[in-house]
Amino acid sequence: MLHTPVLIVGGSLVGLSASLFLAWRGVPHIVVEKHPGSSPHPRAMGYTETTLEHYRMVGIDDRIPQTPQEFRLRRVTVASLASEWQAEHAWTPGDAEQHNSGLSPNTGAAIAQDKLEPILREAALEFGADLRYCTELLEFEDHGNCIVARLLDRKSGQEYAINADYLIAADGADSTVRESLGIAREGVGHLRMVRSVLFTCPEADQYLALGAQQFEIKQENFSAFLTTYNDSRWLLMFVDDIERSEDELRVAIRKVLGRDMSFDIIATGRWEMAGRIATQYRHGRVFLAGDAAHQLPPTRGGFGANTGIDDVWNLAWKLHRVLEGTSDSSLLDTYDAERRPIGWLRHQQTFSRPDYAKWVDSDFKAVPLFSNEAIELGQLVRSSAVIGAGPDLPCAASPIDWVGQPGTRAPHIWLTTSAGDTISSLDLFGTDFVLFAGTQNWQETADKLKLRLILIGRDIHFSEPDTFTAAFGISPQGAVLIRPDGIIAWRCNKVAEDGGTDELKVAFAQVTAS
Ligand SMILES: Cc1cc2nc3c(=O)[nH]c(=O)nc-3n(C[C@H](O)[C@H](O)[C@H](O)COP(=O)(O)OP(=O)(O)OC[C@H]3O[C@@H](n4cnc5c(N)ncnc54)[C@H](O)[C@@H]3O)c2cc1C
Repeated sequence: MLHTPVLIVGGSLVGLSASLFLAWRGVPHIVVEKHPGSSPHPRAMGYTETTLEHYRMVGIDDRIPQTPQEFRLRRVTVASLASEWQAEHAWTPGDAEQHNSGLSPNTGAAIAQDKLEPILREAALEFGADLRYCTELLEFEDHGNCIVARLLDRKSGQEYAINADYLIAADGADSTVRESLGIAREGVGHLRMVRSVLFTCPEADQYLALGAQQFEIKQENFSAFLTTYNDSRWLLMFVDDIERSEDELRVAIRKVLGRDMSFDIIATGRWEMAGRIATQYRHGRVFLAGDAAHQLPPTRGGFGANTGIDDVWNLAWKLHRVLEGTSDSSLLDTYDAERRPIGWLRHQQTFSRPDYAKWVDSDFKAVPLFSNEAIELGQLVRSSAVIGAGPDLPCAASPIDWVGQPGTRAPHIWLTTSAGDTISSLDLFGTDFVLFAGTQNWQETADKLKLRLILIGRDIHFSEPDTFTAAFGISPQGAVLIRPDGIIAWRCNKVAEDGGTDELKVAFAQVTAS
């Protein structure tokens, strides 16, 4: 029987990202996708700095057109696209909407899902991924020591079995993998069905010059929502669940455009607005990722696909270490421990915001809103793979306030290498654990642990002498351990020879489960 270390079910955004991150790490795997390619209905459009940082670490961010520094996603109320703006609505009321504020080396991206997926696909293939389209997972069994899956080649009609060490279920909100494992979901549940029509209208693009990309359409006896994929494709979403004929769709499109413009209908869609988080992200050798783990409606914070891409970024390095034998399989338990609370954080933040608060019933308890920066760049993860992230800490905060808190993303700082190149601190992470330290005394222990030491003043240089201590909240003699996913695992204020290296050995063994 064919064997693969990892079988990924689903070749959409999250499955392809998982494939890319594993392939880049040299982990052999197979992706099965039942369709011949990307869905013709693009869906996601907004990608966050964090997502672009992950793609940066695997070296493909420059293939994805990124938004200019000054870009802001703006939503306005109008009678029609061609009419005056009546009001503007912030995603996070009271927040300065200060995106691209220098906290990341990347800006976000505004690219339609069906254009991003081919970029990911090509990159994954370059790194050696085995992608099988028109291939459906029919059923699988977790035998405790391996997964046995039965696949159908939908082109030839041939069925075959495959044996895998682990399975990633990136098979979407209706995940049959999740269903077959009997994993329940919790959350606000079903809210409503949304019908949409996708059309091209190059003439309408001129209205984007005014600065808004999303339009709440309010007319007497007619409300709808209009948004763009920035490539002359526009999406009109209705507030009801009524099936419309082509003529009726054309009438509605004319109404929202507000003046005579030529357009062509491409496709119609119907999707469920819902909030559901799986009660477990890991079951034996199976990991749920993306919409299979957390179904959330499209948000202006990018809480859908971006959360799923972040899931598999978190999982890929753990699978890599366990499969190469440098970590115990218990490291994989930290996936659920770290990612499920993030799913809940985003669920609660979505339905507490005005965009969605109107759709949830009174049983839902709204929570205080975090700033966009806190959600995007200041989430905290807690598990045995982090030391010093206690329950007293908030689940998100501004990255500026965290100052090196273990469990948060290591800050982006521009620095100079010994070769004189200017890079982001994030460019030093990705492949393996890294120890940042201010003194050479950490070297011997780092070598024994086969840990890459980056010595401030020798390997890298900051423009200000106290940048390292200020950014990571430690003394000049201290050290910081960064995980391959760029999360701070541990930090130490002690001098190396005065207990620091002993602490490092214990910490490294714990966070790597080795
Ligand atoms: C209108 C709209 C706009 C959105 N905008 C955004 C946005 O701007 N930003 C954002 O972050 N998110 C957005 N989202 C959400 C985003 O599209 C989803 O979160 C994302 O597509 C989830 O990706 P996924 O790979 O987890 O699942 P899916 O995209 O649902 O993919 C699952 C894949 O698994 C395959 N599959 C299923 N079962 C099997 C099987 N048995 N065998 C083989 N293959 C199988 C399916 O064919 C499918 O290709 C939006 C969603 C909608 C509806």
